[in-house]
Amino acid sequence: MKNSQRARDRMVETQVAARGVHDQRVLEAMRKVPRHLFVDEALQDQAYNDHPLPIGEKQTISQPYIVALMTQSLELAGNEKVLEIGTGSGYQTAVLAELADRVYSIERYPALAQRAKGTLQRLGYNNTVVRVGDGSLGWPDDAPFEGIIVTAGTPKIPQPLVDQLAVSGRLVVPVGDRYSQELILVRRVAEGITKTNMGGVRFVDLIGTWGWKE
Ligand code: SAM
Repeated sequence: MKNSQRARDRMVETQVAARGVHDQRVLEAMRKVPRHLFVDEALQDQAYNDHPLPIGEKQTISQPYIVALMTQSLELAGNEKVLEIGTGSGYQTAVLAELADRVYSIERYPALAQRAKGTLQRLGYNNTVVRVGDGSLGWPDDAPFEGIIVTAGTPKIPQPLVDQLAVSGRLVVPVGDRYSQELILVRRVAEGITKTNMGGVRFVDLIGTWGWKE
């Protein structure tokens, strides 16, 4: 079966672990979350392939490996509050929900947010909250967050997200031009922040106050 447990196990083994993602909790979460239920029925046969897929509104569900890499960089132990910018299909939200205490996710397209909410609810991810808005401004009412993940590319790191990071918190964000970005890991330390470049990626635009103009 193309959408079976075997398909997920194979995806994790050949696309994720084989490329060096080693956090066992992340690998386990990706073996568990039924990725095919986050895409249109017509695309379900491709859900475990090694590439992004369209989800409507000219947006995409990210490649499994990139989801794993970004998730691993947050170093989640299970008790964290995590903020996601760019809910999209809700797949990344579900992976985070397996690994953290609570996940807050913001999507700018109401139709995508609505669908993601329904999928997450049906699958029992009750520790997630999805809302519509400009995620580049963060979610100040529930800050600080131990982990923040931005799943869209931005010309600069949105300052509100840095401000909403807990001490020792991690923020992962693709920064660059509209065609390619570098995945930057920001860590808040007592004296300020540190930044690590995790390599090249390609994401759709973060559109908003601290991202690209429409
Ligand atoms: N994490 C998603 C998933 O697992 O399906 C993939 C997200 S897709 C690559 C990027 C998403 O970011 C799109 O759904 C897009 O509409 C959303 N987006 C772009 N700018 C945004 C903003 N300022 N606030 C919230 N969402 C935004």
